[in-house]
Amino acid sequence: MSQAVPITVAKGDGIGPEIMEATLRVLEAAGAAITPEFIEIGEKQYLAGHTSGIAPEAWESLRRTKVFLKAPITTPQGSGFKSLNVTIRKTLGLYANVRPCVSYAPYVKTLHPKMDLVIIRENEEDLYAGIEHRQTDEVFQCLKLITRPGCEKIIRYAFEYARANGRKKVTCMTKDNIMKMTDGLFHKVFDEIAPEYPEIQTDHMIIDIGAARLATRPDLFDVIVTPNLYGDILSDIAAELTGSVGLAPSANIGEHVAMFEAIHGSAPDIAGKGIANPSGLLLAAVMMLVHIGQAEAAERIHNAWLSAIEDGVHTAELHSHLSIARPFGSMDFADAVIDRLGNVPQKMKPVSYAQTREVKMPGSAAMSAPKAQPTAQKALVGIDVFIHAAHTRPETLADQLKACTPSGLELQVITNRGVKVWPGGFPETFCTDHWRCRFVSSTNEPLPHTALVALMSALATEGIDFIKTENLCTFDGARGFALAQGQ
Ligand code: NAD
Repeated sequence: MSQAVPITVAKGDGIGPEIMEATLRVLEAAGAAITPEFIEIGEKQYLAGHTSGIAPEAWESLRRTKVFLKAPITTPQGSGFKSLNVTIRKTLGLYANVRPCVSYAPYVKTLHPKMDLVIIRENEEDLYAGIEHRQTDEVFQCLKLITRPGCEKIIRYAFEYARANGRKKVTCMTKDNIMKMTDGLFHKVFDEIAPEYPEIQTDHMIIDIGAARLATRPDLFDVIVTPNLYGDILSDIAAELTGSVGLAPSANIGEHVAMFEAIHGSAPDIAGKGIANPSGLLLAAVMMLVHIGQAEAAERIHNAWLSAIEDGVHTAELHSHLSIARPFGSMDFADAVIDRLGNVPQKMKPVSYAQTREVKMPGSAAMSAPKAQPTAQKALVGIDVFIHAAHTRPETLADQLKACTPSGLELQVITNRGVKVWPGGFPETFCTDHWRCRFVSSTNEPLPHTALVALMSALATEGIDFIKTENLCTFDGARGFALAQGQ
């Protein structure tokens, strides 16, 4: 037997302690070589004043064991509390969210009995950077950040995952027909990395049609890799399509630490009744065992679990005409899985982790970290100044701005919510109190930063309420900013 691996375990809130106890019981019976170290997270910690739901001392265990099996927690209502999941993902750099979505027909009712795919969602960037501002009376903003190293890590992880797990195809989903720079980068990096994996088929879909196809033809997909927000939505759609969100596990993987959990929450409505289905957490523990190199125990548990499901061992929410007479409680269910250790399912396909290779992690010893980009020749060619001005017309604003524009710069275009309204705007265009005013070099020569300072100073003197600026640069001669719609 391999040496016991210390893992950090949190029993969580609501049904968390019940399903964790059931899960650990199965792991122990299957001979998983682990030593759990328990930490407290969740509601009690929030209410004790830790705004992220975790006590400072718990980090020490996580950073030491580097493996976290987490039961769901209850997030208290109220704006003072931060999401524990987001805090853990970002603090520990868990950049890859891996969610297998598998149907278990006919035992779990589903429209798609043959569904078997994995969604790999970028976990740290995109609109989840949490950088939001109210800029005017009418306008609020959330910043979408996509980085090249972030794209490289998640896309490489998706290909390495496919290779290690014998998956044949990786589909990238973005909205790069609209977000040409941010989602465009994600797609571009996908196209750059794909040729390094010639045995794997690749495909790109715009997220809207991709999501529609996923809902109607999940058989088209094998591994899907996508930025954070799309992945969040897509993975819930996919889990729901399998017929039960209650069975789905997920892994959050980083260079140093990995966290494994069920996708469902703490189910306060059934907490304490002993009837919750421990399957999502148990299958997350199976992913954890594969991750720590205990494929044999993982396979035994997973096949015993499949055998139990097809024998009609079902918790209350799965109960149907295919179930053995009574619904199983959480612990009875765990015992029924334990009774089947060593069995393989007869009707559903058994799993095999024997051939599963370690997923090489970008940044680990097995694979170098994304290369630093060579520094591009950057030239400052203008500035977008965002202005708060209510009850004005584009022409009036343009005249006011032109009157105070210092030499060396010229006002090129004004947009409202991205649409050009000056010069030559349409009276039909709806305008808010938030104007993006683009000033560019009047000589076509690069600008010194002092030109921008002179502009801002002139605007301030004129009493213009500027709320934000964005520099306009070229990188090795290529435009580093989008043109306005209609420009
Ligand atoms: P939920 O997933 O807890 O429950 C939704 C429904 O599914 C409920 O009817 C519940 O009884 C049922 N359900 C969930 N898990 C089940 C299981 N294992 N067996 C049988 N039935 C199950 O979602 P919710 O009610 O929206 O959220 C409850 C709490 O959980 C909230 O505080 C939320 O913030 C938190 N939450 C935590 C996590 C996490 O820790 N990862 C994830 C989602 C929600």
